[in-house]
Amino acid sequence: MLAPFRQFEDGVRALSGAAAQISARVLPDLEREFTSLCAAQSDSSAFEEMFRDAFSFSLGGKKDAIKSLIVVAMPSPPGLIRWETKAGFALTLLPPIYANRDRDMCRLKDLSRACFDAAGYRTYPLVLPKKRLCAAAGFGKYGRNHLLYVPGMGSALRLTVFGSDLPCEEETKIAEDLFLPRCKSCGVCQRSCPTGAIGNIGETLDVDRCLTYWNESEREWPAFLAPSVHHAIVGCVRCQERCPENAGVWSETILAEFTKAETDQILAGVPLKALSSETTDKILTLGLDRYYDVLRRNLTALLSSESGGAEGSVIQFP
Ligand code: SF4
Ligand code: SF4
Repeated sequence: MLAPFRQFEDGVRALSGAAAQISARVLPDLEREFTSLCAAQSDSSAFEEMFRDAFSFSLGGKKDAIKSLIVVAMPSPPGLIRWETKAGFALTLLPPIYANRDRDMCRLKDLSRACFDAAGYRTYPLVLPKKRLCAAAGFGKYGRNHLLYVPGMGSALRLTVFGSDLPCEEETKIAEDLFLPRCKSCGVCQRSCPTGAIGNIGETLDVDRCLTYWNESEREWPAFLAPSVHHAIVGCVRCQERCPENAGVWSETILAEFTKAETDQILAGVPLKALSSETTDKILTLGLDRYYDVLRRNLTALLSSESGGAEGSVIQFP
């Protein structure tokens, strides 16, 4: 019989993903790094809001029990959403990470039960800086855009981490270079970013300027977000879509279609609970239930002529 992690890794691979087992002994270093990042970002209100209290290095009181950190990358390609409007049809982009989250989480939970629980090991939900953990352990590399790239998936992926009392037989070596070698001479993402949020290698992302922060948030949009920067229903793909590391993994298939009646309801701000089960299912599958409070505003911005929408035609956001 395969050891629990090998069995789990095989199961993840069968789902087209990748997994790694990392020694929990890396955590003190990770926590030190995060603390100094917090100090360096002390004047960033977006960082404060999104990250400062977002992670729990105390591991929910299970520090002594947890021996391994299991990280998983599942493919999460971007896609398009088709909206029927009074003027015709509109296509809006949905970046990686949002769609099929619940489906993937269920699959991984089932797999971990079949591999870890069945072998007598426990698993624990954890909230840790996943990208940093994966880059430090050599499971992937950072791009200049501060996204994580995993071989075979580029940056079109969703990361999950959980803990286990399964001992980690091999010591995890901390990678010295966290960035993709190509980033030194590339810079496509930096030039493509519509808000100038990306700096040089070694500089942190300016979260306060990142479109994703603003269009996921209910806060009023700042003046520097010109109407023309909006191109995705939530999030932003500009620093990923032309990245050479994403060649071959970047697809834009249609993930869902909303009828005219459904589009009208969303634009009218009908509450999620009042939508039909069919409409709700589409929103849940796209992962937009978590952003429903900003969906009306974001869709309105995308359909406006200022952002590139054209009355009576199919609207493309190339
Ligand atoms: S676009 Fe270029 S610089 Fe940016 S992450 Fe990709 S390879 Fe690195
Ligand atoms: S997500 Fe968009 S705004 Fe944020 S860094 Fe990437 S390109 Fe820039």
